[in-house]
Formats: sequence, structure tokens, C-alpha cells
Amino acid sequence: MAALADGQLLPLLPRREDHALPELPEAETIARALRAEMIGWQVAAVRLRRRDILRGTRGSLSRLLTGATVSDIGRQGKRVILGFEPAGSLVVRLGMTGRLSLVASDQPSDRHTHLRISFADQGWELRFRDARRFGNLTWACGGPDATAEAVGTLGPEPWDLSPAQFIQRLQRRRPIKSLLLDQQIIAGLGNIYCDESLFAAGIDPRRIAREISEPEARRLLRAIKATLRRAIRFGGTTFLDYQAPRGEAGAFADLLNVYQKQDQPCRICQTPIERVVIIGRSTFFCPCCQGAT
Ligand SMILES: [Zn+2]
Repeated sequence: MAALADGQLLPLLPRREDHALPELPEAETIARALRAEMIGWQVAAVRLRRRDILRGTRGSLSRLLTGATVSDIGRQGKRVILGFEPAGSLVVRLGMTGRLSLVASDQPSDRHTHLRISFADQGWELRFRDARRFGNLTWACGGPDATAEAVGTLGPEPWDLSPAQFIQRLQRRRPIKSLLLDQQIIAGLGNIYCDESLFAAGIDPRRIAREISEPEARRLLRAIKATLRRAIRFGGTTFLDYQAPRGEAGAFADLLNVYQKQDQPCRICQTPIERVVIIGRSTFFCPCCQGAT
């Protein structure tokens, strides 16, 4: 897939009301790509176009960051964390359309580009662009505790949960899909990877979580981890307004089984994929492969 111009939509899938990106694999893809490039870069200038997207400080981000060095770039749940020495951390919540990209410094920026950080001796700028402004930035000075506070209450990520702990978290009278989207129950899953994981585990997304059997729950946890790992390996799923740093497209979109495949034949059994709405979110599943058990 070719890189796209700023703001252009990938023509892979029709635009829907249901923006779903980015999720954990996209945040991980961004963090890895930026980490490979930016460690040791020294901040030369900061331009924050919209003050209202910054939380955690009333001070000037430019004053806080200018002269600091990029010391680490990581991720918690769906948030990307930019660490600066000696200043502190900037927690980037990408929301639905937020994008962190390295862009050549001489490239023009548009009105949706809210933050530009330029670096000494580098031809690249880090830009945060968010057309719909569901994303935000939180400044955390100090150590990991302050950063954890800025990140907010997040449940454990799938790899940190034992099957027994996962089963314990499923003991609610809510549809399994709604539970998996709850970042305090399990961190990092959004609409795409929920649907794909439930398909891989053969579980109907409408089922009440606590009625899921132990073997099914074990299968589901395995499916979640495998789906996310695979998505990370393929650089995430890229469509709608999301792009990885430098604009390359994630390849996982080609591997989706059910997400936004309404009325298309299931890859396993040829039954048309169905769409239902669960807690306001479009949910795609195969009524045959994910039949009630
Ligand atoms: Zn099927």
C-alpha cells in the first residue's frame, strides 16, 4: 500500500460512523517506530497550536521541553508516552483520529496539527495531528508514578493476565463485547481487535460475560493475545484517519476476518457476516462460527 498525503483516507473500507482506531497495536507500532528514530534527539523548539488539548501543566510546554533530550518512548494501553530528560513525560492519548508522525520539517502543516516539536540537527519534526480532537496530551513531570497518574486508570494488558485472573474479570452480567472494550477490565482492546478476537475464539459478542465457560475464556484470552501480537507484527490496521509514523500503512487490514465485513461471506464457513450494535458500537461476527454454545 502506498503512503498517502496528509489527511487522505485509505480507500480500503467505506467510512463509517464507527471510528475505532487506534488501538494497542497501532500505539505499539507508533511507539516502536519513534523509539527506533528519536532516542537522544534534543528538542529545539515546541509549537503548541491548541492550548486546550494539553493537561497536567499550566506552564509553557515550550519552556518545559526546549533543550531536553528524548530518553524513552513507550506505550501503556493505547497511549504513547514520550519521555524527556531531564524534563518529564508527555502522555499522548490518540483518541480516534490522533496521529503522531515524523514529518520533514519543511512540510507545511494544516489547522489540525496541534503540536510540532522540532529537534536540533534533525530534518524531522514530531507532529501531533488530530482532526476530531478526541485525543489529548498530558504532561507529567517527575518519575514513573507521575506518569502512571497521567495515564489514568487502566486495567492490565492481556499479556499480564493469567487465565484465572481473566476469568475472574469476566464475572459480570454484561455482554462480553462491552466488557472487552472496558479499559479498566483489560487495557488495549478497541472495536477492531475485540471483534477479531471473539471471532478467533468462536464466541458470540452478545453473550453475557459471566456465562462464558472456563475453556471458552481460556480460548478467548489466547485469541486476544494472538490477535494483538499478529496486528503488532503487521504494523497495525490502517484505515480511516489513522496512519503509522511517516505515513506507511499498516498491513493488518488485509487480515481482518469480520471487522466491517458485513454481508461478506465468512472466510471459514461462507455464512454472511452480521452486524449488530452493542453499547453503541458496531459489532461484526459470524453467526455460524460464533454460534451460541
Ligand atoms: Zn463462519
